[in-house]
Amino acid sequence: MFRNITVHKVAFLLASIESALAILALSYFAPFHFGKFILVFLMLIVSFFVINRYILKASIFNRIHLIYRMIRGAKTNDLDFDGNTSLDKLNTEVANWAFKTKEEISKLQSLSKYRKEYVGNISHELKTPIFSIQGYLHTLLEGGIHDENINVSYLQKALYNLDRLENIVEDLDTINHLESNKDAIIIAPFDIRELIKKVLGELEKVASDASIILNYDVGDSSPIMVMGDQKRIHQVIYNLLINSIKYGKEGGTTKVNFHPIEKQIVVEVVDDGIGIEERHLNHLFDRFYRVDQSRSRSLGGSGLGLSIVKHILETHDQSISVSSVPGAGSTFSFALNRS
Ligand code: ADP
Repeated sequence: MFRNITVHKVAFLLASIESALAILALSYFAPFHFGKFILVFLMLIVSFFVINRYILKASIFNRIHLIYRMIRGAKTNDLDFDGNTSLDKLNTEVANWAFKTKEEISKLQSLSKYRKEYVGNISHELKTPIFSIQGYLHTLLEGGIHDENINVSYLQKALYNLDRLENIVEDLDTINHLESNKDAIIIAPFDIRELIKKVLGELEKVASDASIILNYDVGDSSPIMVMGDQKRIHQVIYNLLINSIKYGKEGGTTKVNFHPIEKQIVVEVVDDGIGIEERHLNHLFDRFYRVDQSRSRSLGGSGLGLSIVKHILETHDQSISVSSVPGAGSTFSFALNRS
């Protein structure tokens, strides 16, 4: 009886007690026959039950009903909560709702913390080149423009910082695009061998300026068809290769390999550059994370390249992995499904 308490059960219990008390009082003042006693008792129980049910519904049930609607997010009266619904069930629902709400609140709190940090990072990243540009231009306007020792070099430095600003804004734009347009990727078959050749061609000059040799084992030149968004995978390979040049050693080599593994092709970018200490590896793909802040900044890095790589591969349901030995070099690898 007390297990699954419902409004009807409470109304009935109260009606029984009230009827028993009423019968006791009546029989004290006017003792009556046993047959009548049963009849009166039944009539009292029914009347008290109806009255109790009405009072309980008006005072408690309707309020519980409101809570029930609120936690279920229901907008209509069409609910499976009535006088026969166990209050234990309501109790469980309220407990579940409270648990879920608590989870949602903590998710929202960590999102808001993340957003604050993100905005803080962006403004910090933008401030650095903006202040540099301001400094160079002020010096030039205050007379430096006539000083042949600095005028051209200060203009070049200002321009370099403008390029950096452009890089950061472009990378932020890419991330924003990836986050808001997850469905916009176009998965189609393309030749990964051809794409790698193309990116290597684009970076030939940058690599030779940094005295890095780009080595690519083309093998036979038959196409290796994979499934993916070619434009975005182009960016993945580009970002990995440019990093291997930026963080490479003079006279070093970057190699691009690929291995067929079951239904996938694994692409590897292997360099013999400065390498990365193990403690940094877990954070490498976080936005704005840099192992060596000043080196990255001086090379025009936004700190977003690897986080873009991770994002793009996630939209392909793939991941990026890295292994590295400080001083000896790093290997970044990812897989794509064969077409
Ligand atoms: P950045 O714009 O700074 O290059 P990334 O997100 O591309 O930003 O890379 C994050 C950090 O990871 C870099 O600042 C660098 O310290 C490290 N890193 C990335 N690629 C390599 C690599 N091939 N060798 C050594 N360090 C690397």
